[in-house]
Amino acid sequence: MNPSARRAWTQLIRKHPTQILACTSRRCSSTFETRQWSTPLAQTLANAIKVTGPIPIAAFMRQVLTSPDGGYYTTRPEGEGEVFGKKGDFVTSPEISQVFGELVGIWTIAEWMAQGRKRSGVQLMEVGPGKGTLMDDMLRTFRNFKSFTSSIEGIYLVEASPTLREVQKHLLCGGASMEETDIGHKSTCKYFDVPVIWVEDIRLLPHEEDKTPFIFAHEFFDALPIHAFESIPPSPENAPQENVDQIMTPTGPTKLHKPLKVANTPQWRELMVTLNPKAVDEDLPDEPEFQLTRAKASTPSSLVIPEISARYRALKSQPGATIEVSPESRIYASDFARRIGGASEPPRTTARKGAPAATPPPAKSVPSGAALIMDYGTQSTIPINSLRGIQHHRNVPALSSPGQVDVSADVDFTSLAEAAIDASEGVEVHGPVEQGDFLQAMGITERMEQLLRKVTDDEKKKTLETGWKRLTEKGGGSMGKIYKVMAIVPENSGQRRPVGFGGGISM
Ligand code: SAH
Repeated sequence: MNPSARRAWTQLIRKHPTQILACTSRRCSSTFETRQWSTPLAQTLANAIKVTGPIPIAAFMRQVLTSPDGGYYTTRPEGEGEVFGKKGDFVTSPEISQVFGELVGIWTIAEWMAQGRKRSGVQLMEVGPGKGTLMDDMLRTFRNFKSFTSSIEGIYLVEASPTLREVQKHLLCGGASMEETDIGHKSTCKYFDVPVIWVEDIRLLPHEEDKTPFIFAHEFFDALPIHAFESIPPSPENAPQENVDQIMTPTGPTKLHKPLKVANTPQWRELMVTLNPKAVDEDLPDEPEFQLTRAKASTPSSLVIPEISARYRALKSQPGATIEVSPESRIYASDFARRIGGASEPPRTTARKGAPAATPPPAKSVPSGAALIMDYGTQSTIPINSLRGIQHHRNVPALSSPGQVDVSADVDFTSLAEAAIDASEGVEVHGPVEQGDFLQAMGITERMEQLLRKVTDDEKKKTLETGWKRLTEKGGGSMGKIYKVMAIVPENSGQRRPVGFGGGISM
């Protein structure tokens, strides 16, 4: 062994004494307990799977993205471990150009004007604000519209990550102090004197009847957990107890009064995350630690979730059909809709006797506000096999290095629209339209040309031009095409289309 290899070996033994000992004594065949997991979160997940069996993709996603112990968004530090930007794992539209946020700001003003310029009660809400860039660019734009800014009563940010909350606070509130509240955190906006309020879940924000919420979600829904299901044909293999009228019990054979029924219709089976025995038991190099497997029997989710929409039910009879469903995304879309349009009917209370009843969202006499959902995903089809991992701007296996890889899935825009309309009779949905078309309609060309005229520095000019191209180009897998924009607005029998969705600006 050469001296540097010896030094490295000694350091390794010092750092991981148990693992190395196990390795040398068993000729490097590690066991479940002693193996080197890709990340600490991989070990936690593996332990859970060992105890409970395979877990739904949704449980895996939630842990790898937002677990307080090693989740991708919740624990990665800024700087070296930066999530967004050149040094990070991916770049988002608001990070590419300030013009993106400015145009979303203009869209908001146009919508506020079209709805009769409310003088008070305007709430700005963003879910998953990342570094806070989109909100910051919007707020700078709003400064030119004094009657709008004077109507704003608060800025509400839904953010699961304490590290990103700090980054957002720094950008939007500067040196103002941040205090803890009953529901989260609070500071003051640096542009105008309104509170900025953080919560970890939108359900923590009260629904109030007389408010006008403008809600923004950029690349938020793709991070919400999904379940995946596959339809399997009826077969004796899937109904192993076909025609049995006698079964074995711990006390011996027992005759059944009624024979068990054969499953003679297709059934949904959930795709689950499990351990890969080749990696974990046989310790074969280059084998992934986790893999997807089809559940052998129905899971609670596979019995309930695919029944929530006729779109899914229609596919059940096609063996081999797969669907991805994000119930949490539907909860968020319904919540947006109720804030804008009011609740369709008070939810039935299932509270136990004596338990305090939850306050139901109010029915709104005059719907107001809007939501703008911007993300990548499918326009009308149900996403399939879209779970993906991204690290350092490259696609990597979604189940690899839990907590160090950004895991996401295509957004099912139709499912969001369906959830919004079901939740509130007071809303209608427009789009999704492709991002390139939306930005063109919002005047990106004019704004870019105006900025370019002012810039003399060649480098800055180039950055503006490439940003403009990246946001709007529609060839191949370009952002202008794959990213989509959808709006939830107050119901008006389709008489007024919002700007960017076929409508004009009404002053
Ligand atoms: N909107 C930003 C960031 C997108 S990344 C942009 O486009 O640049 C996703 C954001 O959602 C991050 O801020 C992440 O911390 C947050 N997030 C992810 N899952 C969440 C959850 N379940 N609840 C609340 N915030 C979440």
